[in-house]
Amino acid sequence: MIFSLALAIGAFLLANDNAATEPAITCTGEHRQGGVLVCRTTPGARVLLDDVETRANASGWVILGHDRDAPAETRLRVRVNGETVHDERYAVATAEYQIQRIEGLPPAMVTPPPEVLERIRREGVRKGRSHASRWDGEGFSEGFIQPTEGRITSRFGAQRFYNGEPRAPHYGVDIAAPTGTPVLAPAGGIVTLADTDMYFEGGLIFIDHGQGFNSAYLHLSEVLVEEGDVVEQGQLIARVGSTGRSTGPHLCWRIRWHGRNVDPFATLDLQTADLR
Ligand SMILES: [Zn+2]
Repeated sequence: MIFSLALAIGAFLLANDNAATEPAITCTGEHRQGGVLVCRTTPGARVLLDDVETRANASGWVILGHDRDAPAETRLRVRVNGETVHDERYAVATAEYQIQRIEGLPPAMVTPPPEVLERIRREGVRKGRSHASRWDGEGFSEGFIQPTEGRITSRFGAQRFYNGEPRAPHYGVDIAAPTGTPVLAPAGGIVTLADTDMYFEGGLIFIDHGQGFNSAYLHLSEVLVEEGDVVEQGQLIARVGSTGRSTGPHLCWRIRWHGRNVDPFATLDLQTADLR
């Protein structure tokens, strides 16, 4: 009798303890290959997802992502004033990727001729600089909308062959739409690159939605923003085209976060209102 009473008190104390403990971090989104999570934690907390370190902003918002080829397990740590307040491992769901064969590309687009290599190198440096942007805004905290409507012709992560030659996976989502179709900012952010004539991408825009969560819009026929512009969700930023290495009018939408390629469509499921 005394023993079972002691157990009951113990159980009550445990339950009470759990109820009193706020989770150190709360997230919307999924731990999966290409997945995206938006979380809230202590303002200014250091947040480490595997080897990537970022910092929650003054309102406690933080955005995280998993690469196309993320390993099967991830570790999420949160540190506040040098103390670890959260340290957990999560399984990362694997994704299955399409195999796509694209034939009939002009040979110069598959293997660029030597005279354009210097231009490609210069443009690569510029893109790298934009990817390094870490805007302190929080456009991501309002969630994301699809930037344009149309038929999805290539999903994130597809393994590609150009004219039979294996190439890097497709890190974007391709949405086929007529030339001139509006492209809207899927969330607020700052424009870190805007150019009408990149060798591979043609008309190209990069937007940092906060903390280096960088989205890209390729093959645009018109670019309607400039570098340094702060855009709002739903703002007209460009029009669909087929410029650069493209076989027909479509929007190629990509997202990178701290060197990881994430699935743009993973942003559409985020329930950030639940974290407000
Ligand atoms: Zn694409």
